[in-house]
Amino acid sequence: MDNKLLLIILDGVPWRNFRRLFGNLEGWVDSGDARVWKIRSVLPSISASCYASIHTGVAPAKHGCTGNGNVFRLDLPDVFSQTRKAGGVTGAVTHSFWSEFFNRHPFDCVRDIEYDEPGSDTINHGRFHTMTAAGKDNQMTPCDVDLFATLSNLCHRFGLNYGVLHTCTLDSMGHRFFHESNEMDHACHVMDEMLAPFIPKWRGAGYEVIVTADHGQDGRGHHGGRADLQQDSALYYFGPAKGPAKDILIDQVQLAPTILSRLGAPVPESMKAAAFLY
Ligand SMILES: [Zn+2]
Repeated sequence: MDNKLLLIILDGVPWRNFRRLFGNLEGWVDSGDARVWKIRSVLPSISASCYASIHTGVAPAKHGCTGNGNVFRLDLPDVFSQTRKAGGVTGAVTHSFWSEFFNRHPFDCVRDIEYDEPGSDTINHGRFHTMTAAGKDNQMTPCDVDLFATLSNLCHRFGLNYGVLHTCTLDSMGHRFFHESNEMDHACHVMDEMLAPFIPKWRGAGYEVIVTADHGQDGRGHHGGRADLQQDSALYYFGPAKGPAKDILIDQVQLAPTILSRLGAPVPESMKAAAFLY
């Protein structure tokens, strides 16, 4: 496999926060270096269900993850497994749910906190965190620049063809401080500024880059149900592919077949949605 792509998932960022507060990403839309579309999450618009849909290309009604309390090893082809079938090298810097869904369940925090498994059928190079005991009064997210650096490290050391990074910082901030707050404005600004220097480096190393969220959040920091603020986020794309008109709404289940088609990996029968980049 020659193609390379990184998927950056900033957990819980609604459309309006991306468009209003991420000045670097928006500046690259203005300069023509990136394109942006609105993307709508599956239902329920809850994190674990969305992670499973992002990587399997099917709705929770099909994959069966009904929420964060129902995480298990999924029995469906996904972006990791299809990339491996095509000879690609995969990596993940994410919450431990991703390891459980796509590699091993339950998560053993010693065995699985980091692994390098070149022969794996799914995740070759994983770096995970559990956020155990996280809550409104006890935010347990790693520093985002550390996560971006870790993904870059895996790309350099292991020549990833596909890497996914997921960070819960902004979801946790939204649950704590809601969305009409100085804290939230600042958190989005800091995320944008921490992420920005990595994007030209990843592009320079030959990666297409997608930045998006798993779901949005409403004014009270809630998500899980059906509402534009809960479901809708932005998707920024850096790369040479053509895409749809700018006012097209992307369905979250289109993401998996799109990533696979960009990598040149086979799209499995289970992924029925059309790719949106070509
Ligand atoms: Zn989430």
